[in-house]
Amino acid sequence: MRIRRYPLFLVLLLLLTLPVWSESGTFEVLPASLVDAATALREKALESSDAYSFVASLTTEVGPRLAGSEGDRKAVVWASRKLAEYGLDVSLEKVTVPHWVRGEAAGHIVEPYPHRVELVALGGSIGTPEGGVEAEVLEVESIEALEALEPRQVEGKIVFFNRRMERHPQGAGYRTAVMPRALGPSKAAPMGAVAVLIRSAGTSTHRFGHTGGTRYAEGVRKIPAAALSNTDADLLEAQVATGKTVRFRLELGCRMLADETSANVIGEVRGREKPEEIVLLAAHLDSWDLGTGAMDDGAGCAIVSETGRMIAALEQPPRRTLRILLTANEEFGLSGARAYGQRHADELANHTAALESDFGIGKVFVFRSGVTEDRMPLVRDIERLLAPLGIAHHDMPAFGGADLGPLRPARVPFFDLPQDATHYFDYHHTADDTLDKLSAEDLKQNVAAYVTAAYVLAETTYDLGRAPESAAR
Ligand code: ZN
Ligand code: ZN
Repeated sequence: MRIRRYPLFLVLLLLLTLPVWSESGTFEVLPASLVDAATALREKALESSDAYSFVASLTTEVGPRLAGSEGDRKAVVWASRKLAEYGLDVSLEKVTVPHWVRGEAAGHIVEPYPHRVELVALGGSIGTPEGGVEAEVLEVESIEALEALEPRQVEGKIVFFNRRMERHPQGAGYRTAVMPRALGPSKAAPMGAVAVLIRSAGTSTHRFGHTGGTRYAEGVRKIPAAALSNTDADLLEAQVATGKTVRFRLELGCRMLADETSANVIGEVRGREKPEEIVLLAAHLDSWDLGTGAMDDGAGCAIVSETGRMIAALEQPPRRTLRILLTANEEFGLSGARAYGQRHADELANHTAALESDFGIGKVFVFRSGVTEDRMPLVRDIERLLAPLGIAHHDMPAFGGADLGPLRPARVPFFDLPQDATHYFDYHHTADDTLDKLSAEDLKQNVAAYVTAAYVLAETTYDLGRAPESAAR
């Protein structure tokens, strides 16, 4: 312990001067006063932000919030009240959403070795006729593999898309794993398939399926579709591997009802100098019906709302308007995001920055930006403020998230603070997306990251410009 050789006051002096040197001495464009204010917010978030209580209340008092359901309606009322309590100016914007109900689901391997298996209907799937659909199973790895077959090989069969999702901190495996879920039924039906099974687009080894929306292409015959638990996908794979004929019976009680009205819930802190310029923080209020939507996207709603609460509590509001947007129906076709894009079309050119939180509950570990190269000095300054949270620069351009899609053509600069998603896809869209998976401490780190970035973006006089042309596509 060499440090003991130095007098205590010298050590203290060194410790006291260190933060000053490291946090305000090396900034390129941000003035010291802004750096200090952002640093203070960051530290306060680590000590006392409370996104956890938000999720606890939402999941306990409302629970699952599938578009069009009773839970969806309750969530809108709950969130408006909560954002008002948080000191934000609240408004509701109506959104028409689809209303699909799940009903019961059952799956049986009938031959060669009978088993009951666990599966869940894909969101939007049609139900099966009375008694279910029973047919021979055709296993393929991907949509490309299916399309390489002759229709006569597919005719009358249940197509089983069997692709394993890889575990990855940035959830990279999801992009490929999700394709059969989204497009499988529309690709298999024209080739004569009678139903689709997919291996769940998730990394869990639990015996439950991961749901998620499927999309029937216009004019294509609709066939029922379900996701097998990974465990049961293994079982089905093993039976196919015997070389014997495998027959499967699928029974789904799901159906689509008439559209319903939901709403985007908006909470604002009006800017003190440029109220017409908007920094947008988005998350989605709806969830799947199997769990309570604690991670997807209760946590995201909590992170952006708590960020709003902290900024609303400041003695003076930031220069620009901070807008918290909790969207309706992200899961089932992005109805809320589209409605926002249409209603605010005239205003999109004034959206100076946008962030979305919809990637689970891990710690934020990288920062990505979507500005042109000449605006990087500001990005580097934000990175300096985020570094003490363990957040590193990431070269990839910011993606923005599904709900920010309608802002893309207006070249709104996106910023990403993605969570470490190593374990997210063990729970994503399952019955296990519940409150007990959340860590209050990790959520504090998330709020610290979002409040730091959001505050700087809303307060800086630095002109962020627009996102590069390439980001508009
Ligand atoms: Zn989500
Ligand atoms: Zn989701």
